[in-house]
Amino acid sequence: MQKVIITGGTGYIGSHTVVEFQNAGYEVVIIDNLSNSNIEVVDGIESITGKRPQFYKADVACHKAVDDVFSKHDDAIAVIHFAAYKAVGESVKKPLLYYHNNVQGIVNVLDKMQEYNILNLVFSSSCTVYGQPEKLPVTEESPVVKPESPYGNTKKINEEIIVDTLNSTRKLKAISLRYFNPIGAHESAKIGELPLGVPDNLLPYITQTAIGLRKELSVFGDDYNTPDGTAIRDYINVTDLAKAHVKAVSRLTEDHDRFEVFNVGTGKGSSVMEIILAFERSTGQELKYKIVDRRAGDVEQVWADTTKANTVLGWKAEKTLDETVKSAWEWEKRVRGESV
Ligand code: NAD
Repeated sequence: MQKVIITGGTGYIGSHTVVEFQNAGYEVVIIDNLSNSNIEVVDGIESITGKRPQFYKADVACHKAVDDVFSKHDDAIAVIHFAAYKAVGESVKKPLLYYHNNVQGIVNVLDKMQEYNILNLVFSSSCTVYGQPEKLPVTEESPVVKPESPYGNTKKINEEIIVDTLNSTRKLKAISLRYFNPIGAHESAKIGELPLGVPDNLLPYITQTAIGLRKELSVFGDDYNTPDGTAIRDYINVTDLAKAHVKAVSRLTEDHDRFEVFNVGTGKGSSVMEIILAFERSTGQELKYKIVDRRAGDVEQVWADTTKANTVLGWKAEKTLDETVKSAWEWEKRVRGESV
């Protein structure tokens, strides 16, 4: 059985990815320091797949901790690197925390991959590296711009560190997946997104409002240059996104370019109002919301050209927006102890 190491594997996207690797027959080793997740996620994964992944509570920003795990699992064929902090606003307030965690993490991972001959890396990048693109949809050739936040900058810097490292050694190969906006939860409602505190992202805010945890949803701006005036994003189902990582590892183990980038989205933009309507339609819940001013730093509209992922990686988003939004609601009800 082929083995992969998944950093950040108890997090939101990481946990869904662990499930997809196990379903595809891989053995999975997780490294996570539980700074933004909890150990019960491993139970959720086991209850979905019938297999318990090996789990190490360890900090990827600590060189020795990464060495301890990689030295025990030097038979792994790939590392999927999710472990990072991801709150844009917090990164503006605490840039050094973000640079330390997100940059030191990739440095340690690459260093130990070289030392233990684990040759393939899949990296979690983001469409944030494109900023507000001049042309839509965004292809992988669209320019990478100066990021709006320290968080965004850590994604750009991570990609640069990966490319420089690959250039210095003939051994390693890497794929950077630039995620658009991951939403939803596993169809079993046994794992999902667990935002700590007030959610930054639209869908957890919607589900928390619908369940009564928040008073109402603020829609930031209805005067954008979009059909209904609200901002547009490309919302990608988290299980579909997870499957792209399995495809990426297969591709890395074939003969191809040493560094490749893929956009991972649906190829379709949805406005904030369209998401609200999809939520109301698919769950039967009415949502309280109000229109407020635009939020600083938000781009107007962005969605992916996924032709490269569809044709080269052999991956395509499959789930509909309604089933994805509904899966987030089923998860929210489960987390709050309501019957699903
Ligand atoms: P998440 O916070 O749910 O998961 C990240 C996991 O990494 C958490 O379990 C956390 O405990 C762990 N972690 C953080 N720092 C660590 C460290 N130093 N050592 C060990 N573990 C550590 O976030 P997510 O939404 O699952 O995101 C996963 C990756 O995808 C991140 O790199 C994020 O930047 C990237 N990404 C996320 C989105 C999104 O909207 N969720 C979009 C684009 C890219």
